[in-house]
Amino acid sequence: MPMTTTTTTSTRPTILPILLMVLLSTIPSAAQAAQTKLSVHWEELTAADFREGIHRSQGTCLLPFGILEKHGPHLPLGTDLLDVRYAALHAAEQEYAVVFPEYYFGQIAEARHEPGTVAYSREMQLALLQETTDEMARNGCKKIIIANGHGGNEHLLPFFAQSQLDKPHDYVVYVFDERTPQSGGPAKKTKMDMHAGESETSKMMIPRPDTVHLDRANQESGADQHRQNLPEDVYTGIWWYARFPYHYSGDGSAATRELGKFQMDWWIDTLAKTIRAVKADDASLKLQNEFYEKSKHPLETQP
Ligand SMILES: [Zn+2]
Repeated sequence: MPMTTTTTTSTRPTILPILLMVLLSTIPSAAQAAQTKLSVHWEELTAADFREGIHRSQGTCLLPFGILEKHGPHLPLGTDLLDVRYAALHAAEQEYAVVFPEYYFGQIAEARHEPGTVAYSREMQLALLQETTDEMARNGCKKIIIANGHGGNEHLLPFFAQSQLDKPHDYVVYVFDERTPQSGGPAKKTKMDMHAGESETSKMMIPRPDTVHLDRANQESGADQHRQNLPEDVYTGIWWYARFPYHYSGDGSAATRELGKFQMDWWIDTLAKTIRAVKADDASLKLQNEFYEKSKHPLETQP
């Protein structure tokens, strides 16, 4: 029976329920609350919003990994940090994930001869990264995507991920190490394009064009100096310095905003797809746990 027909003798009982309904309508429902915009920046969330962020991201967090090193004569020391954070923050806006603050404690021994390089010891790099991912996981990040912004980390990060198997962890480390599409977009003008070259300079024009000094790009040479004579399958730590002593590989003066926009959009989209794939991954943690269990008693493991 409708409420209004029961209270024809007095107005008082109808006013209270109406007042209550008006009051309740001003309080957001749980569903509405879930739609509230949450920052993707770890450091911008309140403690309560952080809890909601972890829930919304299904425990998926990004650790964008930069570095402080010379980038030719024309780009800022923090190029990799600024670029990878721009890509990660935009990707997380597309597919919600909590993004860890500035992190730049990686492998850069080969640039210690240049001003502004911060090169932590091997022990410190591994210990800090382990404690960082452990702390992230303790706070609910059970899927940690390390988005690499720096070429010098390309051996460190797979090694770090692999070494997670040496003792049990209740989380999975995923390494995403792509920054530049292999094809498509505006035609490139240069062939050698590794460090502070055409692609990297173009990309830097998107997040922080004010830090790009294109007019200085030819003040030093980014050409391969070929100062080592060894077969290609022999590796030495000095290979990079032998080829590119000015910590510059390519020609940044060829950069364009169009190429930068194409590459940055590709980076963001590819990283957003990766976040989606990681959220959907229900195999890795199960397999890790199975592996940790079996590794306690290898003689019982059947072929
Ligand atoms: Zn770089």
